[in-house]
Amino acid sequence: MKTEPHSSRAASHIEISKSAILHNVRTIQRIIGERVGIAAVVKACAYGHGANEVVQVLINEQIRFFAVHSIEEADRLDQSFPGLPILILGYVPLSHLEHAVSRSWRLTVSSIETVNSLHEAVGRAGKEAYMHLKLETGTNRQGIRESQIPAFLDAIAREPRIVLEGASMHFANIEDTTDHSFAKMQLERYKKMLAQIEAQVGRIPIRHTASSAASLLFESTHFDMIRFGISLYGLWPSKQTYLSYLIARKENSLLKPVLSWKTIISEIKDVPSGDYIGYGCTYRTTYDSRIAVIPIGYFDGYDRKLSNLAHVLIRGKRAPVRGRICMDIFMVDITHIPEASLQDEVVLIGSQGDERITVEQLADWAGTINYEIVSRINPLLQRVIVD
Ligand SMILES: *Cc1c(COP(=O)(O)O)cnc(C)c1O
Repeated sequence: MKTEPHSSRAASHIEISKSAILHNVRTIQRIIGERVGIAAVVKACAYGHGANEVVQVLINEQIRFFAVHSIEEADRLDQSFPGLPILILGYVPLSHLEHAVSRSWRLTVSSIETVNSLHEAVGRAGKEAYMHLKLETGTNRQGIRESQIPAFLDAIAREPRIVLEGASMHFANIEDTTDHSFAKMQLERYKKMLAQIEAQVGRIPIRHTASSAASLLFESTHFDMIRFGISLYGLWPSKQTYLSYLIARKENSLLKPVLSWKTIISEIKDVPSGDYIGYGCTYRTTYDSRIAVIPIGYFDGYDRKLSNLAHVLIRGKRAPVRGRICMDIFMVDITHIPEASLQDEVVLIGSQGDERITVEQLADWAGTINYEIVSRINPLLQRVIVD
């Protein structure tokens, strides 16, 4: 895919580094080995990076499935990439099962009503249904309990066109801690349930448990496939995961962040000492200030909690946010950057000169995690693939 000429680039846009995505996916493939497949998790607009753009970059890589949350996300991807192999991680309403089956989308299943409805759906679609049974091991989100296994296998066995292709689970406490005992307990439960299932129906072709953190930290979680989300985008699942990885492997520049968020200065003004800036008069200048207006706000995903806290980069220097973030606009102080001028590039995430604003820094300021910062970037903002 060619990148667009600069003139057609929106003033506010998201840049996606093709080389960084490829670096991250090839790095994890090296870590997990050729034998283990990758489900590239592109739910939530590819964690805000742009699902079409990320799939475009990955289309010629060895990706087993593109994992989305919903049937709507699957539909969107299918329009751009007909026949794309898709694994749906979230709930598919019973009325939409036939549609999913007709597209051969893989279904994550943890409710018996879904299996029963699949009996009709395979008939109407005239196709096999591929399901991945989700096992409950301690997260208590999706998943069936051990006691439910016989009923599920029974219902599956009654319709030969329902193919039990996968068995999965999801870790509850692998990112937020350096103590991995809960994860190990979940893994043991998974293996026990898996053995019970396989004793009855034979080897499940695609057994998968690992998200990014487990993929990076524990080989024992890889099985046949990993579900690789946040680290595909060059971000660590957490500080604890990063630390655990460093202690075990001592390799610190493993992942390359993919996303940069850029805009321009839309206005510059002199504000005398003692004036207030923005809604609620939460900031009052203590010196004669030069203020730049930035055409981005909380609608775009630039969190209101960043008010009076965050910095942006202008001419390679940090400019602090003054006053509250508005819906579509905020203001920064550029008194110390006299060379700044109208329509200068402003970096909200990414680097400029020697300075850099990381997703993690924004997450700290906003009191949240990197996942939320990127996934909430407004899908309407233009995504541009670079290098
Ligand atoms: C989102 C998601 C993932 C990816 O997790 P990361 O921590 O982003 O790698 C994996 N599995 C399931 C079930 C998910 O919902």
